[in-house]
Amino acid sequence: MWLSKAHVLTLLFALTAASFGLLALTLLGAARARLRLALYAALALGVAAFLGAPFLFEALTRHRVETGLAVALPIVAAVFLLDLARGGRRTRAFLFAASSVLVLAALAELAARRQVLVAAPLVSPLGAGFVLFTALLLPRVAEQERRLFTRATTDPLTGLLNRTAFEERALAELARAARTGRSLAVAMLDVDHFKTFNDRFGHLAGDAALTAVARAVARTVRGIDAAGRYGGEEFIVLLVEADAEASAHAVERIRAAVASLGPPRIPLGVTISAGIAIHQGRFERTSFESLVARADAALYAAKKAGRNRVILEPPPEPATPSDVRYR
Ligand code: GH3
Ligand code: MG
Ligand code: MG
Repeated sequence: MWLSKAHVLTLLFALTAASFGLLALTLLGAARARLRLALYAALALGVAAFLGAPFLFEALTRHRVETGLAVALPIVAAVFLLDLARGGRRTRAFLFAASSVLVLAALAELAARRQVLVAAPLVSPLGAGFVLFTALLLPRVAEQERRLFTRATTDPLTGLLNRTAFEERALAELARAARTGRSLAVAMLDVDHFKTFNDRFGHLAGDAALTAVARAVARTVRGIDAAGRYGGEEFIVLLVEADAEASAHAVERIRAAVASLGPPRIPLGVTISAGIAIHQGRFERTSFESLVARADAALYAAKKAGRNRVILEPPPEPATPSDVRYR
């Protein structure tokens, strides 16, 4: 047979190690992620090497395999226990059960290996423990990860991107614009006379109005654009690959969508003012902060001009050759 037993076993060990690594990756939160990743990766590699090495290099003896397992498994269990201490009650129960299975499986494996050196990991208790552990825990951990991610990137009241997540997205789009040379726009939106709205109808109605405005913004922008809550009653929109004309048109649509809101959803209609700054792409060096400041200045002009309107920042001075720089 072209595929020897040793090959198959090595492959199975590699698969086990890979599923272990995948589990480790999923388990990693944002905090101290690198350190834990390194630890898990080292452990997974160590276990894989100790288990797989005998089949690759027949020189390794049973004694070394057992020592490897005996050293690696308590560490694996300890790291799982550390995770257990941080997780919620359900995660704890799962981690506890799974690490118990793991440790018991390891003991059984050690006992079995006194008679048989070569044991297929996926049918051995240890391999089965790994697979069971991964299969049971992965979906739950992934779900928890997803929830944490949403909480970390979303504004809880409006469901739009929060400021940090918006900025991250904007920086990525600025970098892309520098490569492609396509322009993009940042628009700052501010609800008009919102203090008066709150004073008149109360903050709960105010919150409902902000949510309604956010929904109107979200359904008006294109899928590739991004909308975020900048703070209080201020929103920010990133229009990807949009020039002055296209972005003025898009933000005007947002303004109109907000202006058409009203009872029964919210007690009284609200309006927004907006300012737009255009990033010219490759030929312009701009930071996200300066784009926001420019959009803010245009917004201020819109407020001064009477509110419920969109103002595009004035076009830049024509560039002289020495001003043109490639990024
Ligand atoms: P302008 O047209 O100049 O923007 O007037 P304004 O009253 O909207 O401006 P100002 O910045 O003075 O007031 C903003 C108000 O937004 C004040 C604050 O109570 C309200 N606000 C900010 N965040 C929230 C929120 O999360 N919920 C509610 N209900 N109100 C908020
Ligand atoms: Mg404001
Ligand atoms: Mg306002």
